[in-house]
Amino acid sequence: MRVGLFGGTFDPIHYGHLLLAEVCREQCDLDEVWFLPADVPPHKQGEMVSSGQARAEMIELAVAGNAGLLVSRHELEHGGVNYTVDTLRHFRDETPEAELFFLMGADMFNDLPNWRNAEEVCRLAVPIVAQRAGVSPPDYDCLQSIATPERISELLNYQVEMPQIEFSSTEIRNRVAEGRSIRYRTPRAVQKYIETHGLYLPT
Ligand code: ATP
Repeated sequence: MRVGLFGGTFDPIHYGHLLLAEVCREQCDLDEVWFLPADVPPHKQGEMVSSGQARAEMIELAVAGNAGLLVSRHELEHGGVNYTVDTLRHFRDETPEAELFFLMGADMFNDLPNWRNAEEVCRLAVPIVAQRAGVSPPDYDCLQSIATPERISELLNYQVEMPQIEFSSTEIRNRVAEGRSIRYRTPRAVQKYIETHGLYLPT
């Protein structure tokens, strides 16, 4: 069993996230990819985020019909600041037989050596990195301080090709606030959810 874990704020989920998950699932032969909405991600403390419930429900709407993409409320239920290392330990304990991967865009990867217990993070799971528009490509040399040369050459086998889509949740929130269209940037069901619940409107 090869399990991908994809953490983020997902406020809201958009087609960039969905394509990243699907590309990694297919190219790295993953059985499942779990979206893991964060309660309060370490790098976003202090910023406003929609409720975990709303973000998880939007992901569920977005992945409906794709048996390979799933939502875990683990970080929301755990509450507070969640570090990747703690989440990976949880999944390792829950499913010791699974091979774990964690998915991210290049903007997150380049900061990986600064994550809490980064060495353990790279031992517990394989990072899979997708290019992101406007971000320099992943530089695996940045792992030299936290992983052995053997491990780095193993990780290099899990690079994925992804068409770069210049979408971000920030842009979607801004568009909603400005009364502009978000159609085709996120699935229709997510767009409807945002409208029905009045998310991202100016206060
Ligand atoms: P925000 O604009 O609120 O910062 P975001 O669009 O960057 O949000 P996050 O939920 O913070 O989305 O990102 C979760 C993960 O998805 C991160 O690893 C990020 O690099 C990746 N990601 C987000 N958007 C894209 C995209 N358009 N292409 C590739 N990766 C992306």
